[in-house]
Amino acid sequence: MTKKPPSDDFQNFQYWQTLGQQLPVDGVASTFETESDCRDRLAAVRWPIGVTCLRCDTKNVGYLELRKVYHCRDCRYQFTVLTGTVLHSSKLSPQCWFDAAEEYIRWRAANERYDYGIHALADFLGVPYPTAQRVRKILKQDLAPDGSGLLAKCICTEATSDPFETLSENL
Ligand SMILES: [Zn+2]
Repeated sequence: MTKKPPSDDFQNFQYWQTLGQQLPVDGVASTFETESDCRDRLAAVRWPIGVTCLRCDTKNVGYLELRKVYHCRDCRYQFTVLTGTVLHSSKLSPQCWFDAAEEYIRWRAANERYDYGIHALADFLGVPYPTAQRVRKILKQDLAPDGSGLLAKCICTEATSDPFETLSENL
């Protein structure tokens, strides 16, 4: 058994509900239909003004389509869209991560008190329990209020207006 995190895990219900409202209405799978849609989306979120070499910062970067690898023409460094992110060490595909993140956000937005079960996540993804355990940990690292936010930025595409802003606009 892992120890319960001391953090205020369940005090951010509103946060999860907001994320839930920002998920695409038709679902993530119909918004990003293919593995390459997901990779493109990750790249656009990571490098909004163009892919930049993670080692030397140049924009002189090529892409090896077959291996899904970027390579820097200046320093010859090779990297993927996930290198240096919390998702890097995982064998799950970007599409799997998008699906898992959507499922996790929907659950947290609807369940104030309980975290998404590891067994349920293992069933959803069709992966063994220990994998689901790691996936959930990484999802939390990325999606939590103080997390890296990469997946949330990728899949929460619906711009909901800030409820407080709408209020002041209407005054
Ligand atoms: Zn480089």
